[in-house]
Amino acid sequence: MANWDKFCDTVSNTANKAAAKAGELTDVMKLKYKLHQTKTELRETYEKIGRLTYDQLHFGHDRAVEIDKLLPEVGKLRDRIRRLGAAIAKEDNAVYCANCGTKLESDMSYCPGCGQKQTRPETAETTEPVSADEV
Ligand SMILES: [Zn+2]
Repeated sequence: MANWDKFCDTVSNTANKAAAKAGELTDVMKLKYKLHQTKTELRETYEKIGRLTYDQLHFGHDRAVEIDKLLPEVGKLRDRIRRLGAAIAKEDNAVYCANCGTKLESDMSYCPGCGQKQTRPETAETTEPVSADEV
């Protein structure tokens, strides 16, 4: 249970810092929570498809109709993950994978979440730094 308590402390410390930042992090946290939920939903959908595919190939039961119903669901969920990832990246200065929403370190060429190659636009060093208040 010690790890759980530590986790809760970290979360509450983060939340306190967020409150100091005029509550802007609460929106990011909501988005991140939604992203986590959507990723779980996507994984469950893949698992369902896997079970149906196994049932079809291994036992010869016709699961084509059920599988066909789940495939567009995968597309919808992946699209939602992309949109949430983009929304989070907009809220947060950190870089997130556009494909799966995983947070990326600046030296990562490939996403640790989905393996997507990361292309970084060259940031011009000459541009004026924008202060947080202007955003
Ligand atoms: Zn990714």
